[in-house]
Amino acid sequence: MPVADCRVCTRLPRTLTSSQGIDVWKAAEPLLPPVPREEASGFRTSCPLCGAIYVYDLRREHEDGTLWTTASLDRLSFVHRILAAPPAERAALEAELPGQIVAWREGLDEGSAWAQAESAWNLCCLVDLDGSWEPVTTLLRSRHVAARVEAAQFLLARRAQLPDAVLDAVVPLLDDVGAFCRSVAVKLLAPRRLARGEAAQVVTELLADGDQTRRVARLEVLVRHVDAAVAAESPRLVPLLEHPDEPTRDLASRVVARCLKDAPTPPGLVPLLLDRLRGESPDVAKAALTALSCLRERCDDAVPLVARWCTDATASFAAYSFLTEQARLGTRVHALLPVFEARLATTRDPATPAKLLLRMLASTDDKLPVIRAMLPGLDGAWATSLALAIRATAESGYDLTPLLPELRAVRSNVMGHVPELVALVEKQRTR
Ligand SMILES: [Zn+2]
Repeated sequence: MPVADCRVCTRLPRTLTSSQGIDVWKAAEPLLPPVPREEASGFRTSCPLCGAIYVYDLRREHEDGTLWTTASLDRLSFVHRILAAPPAERAALEAELPGQIVAWREGLDEGSAWAQAESAWNLCCLVDLDGSWEPVTTLLRSRHVAARVEAAQFLLARRAQLPDAVLDAVVPLLDDVGAFCRSVAVKLLAPRRLARGEAAQVVTELLADGDQTRRVARLEVLVRHVDAAVAAESPRLVPLLEHPDEPTRDLASRVVARCLKDAPTPPGLVPLLLDRLRGESPDVAKAALTALSCLRERCDDAVPLVARWCTDATASFAAYSFLTEQARLGTRVHALLPVFEARLATTRDPATPAKLLLRMLASTDDKLPVIRAMLPGLDGAWATSLALAIRATAESGYDLTPLLPELRAVRSNVMGHVPELVALVEKQRTR
């Protein structure tokens, strides 16, 4: 008898968590005994139709006056049923196992998509009984895509503990017809190659590969495995910032950003990124600026190149992030103050220029032009933050009296900030 579709279990994912909607949880109502509403740990319940066992946990935690509830409901594979069984029941379940294995194999060939996946998953779990990966590697070669997907997913979840021979068996999946399998194959194999010091080869393959799925998966691996060897290859990734595929561009810029953040800046990388700001494409500029925002050293050459992107809808956020970080590092971005001032006065999102001006004010000795650029913001959403910063500057003894006429001319109805500042600066004058 192959695995039959169960009317209850087909509606329940193998793992149900609190993040899933109430509709999905409704599907758990037929389980007996019903899942409790109070806290529970390892509560066992079962499907009245097919006998599948589920384990339910519910935890409530108070944090800062909020009650957090985390719940999960897991269907046990047959092998995990055996492993969790009391000694008295275990022998009976073990006796059933050979018949079950036959049923799963038949399920792969004859079952519905659900039965195929369920059968493959149960076969994979056999490894927990005898330590043999053979059922999983056999499934990797199955003619049924559902079986290969299930085996790939199983390996991905256990990627930290896979023997070399199992990884070798994953290699053919790189050319699987299914995108999911190709992606998993890269995610399992590329980290091993990076660990073996093959960063240059991984990047070469990435650049030569026309398959979007593998390219994106390789970039996802690189983002998580940035080290000196990957950083040394990062200049070769810069052309991907101009790739027509958006996920490729975004991920490539994230890899380069991580290299700038976590490794010594490779020679030649920054000029390549600056070149991308000279072009016409806002998407390319955004990708380059996102990467440059993680630069941990001053980059004075960038300032004149960034100005035009501060007013571009696509690239402005990345431009401000970059300039804010540069201001913190002490780069003098004063030449761009007119741009920031105009942006603060007109933009619907004043947060980016406001944050930048606050950062500049903190990091420069030449504060008067920065405060002058802040004045239009005293009538907007960031008025309080800006007023507090100006006030702190005055109170620290910095002479703001040259700004008094401009400060008096500011028209603002926000919280009385302007009269307060005027009074403060007038007091400075009388001192
Ligand atoms: Zn069931």
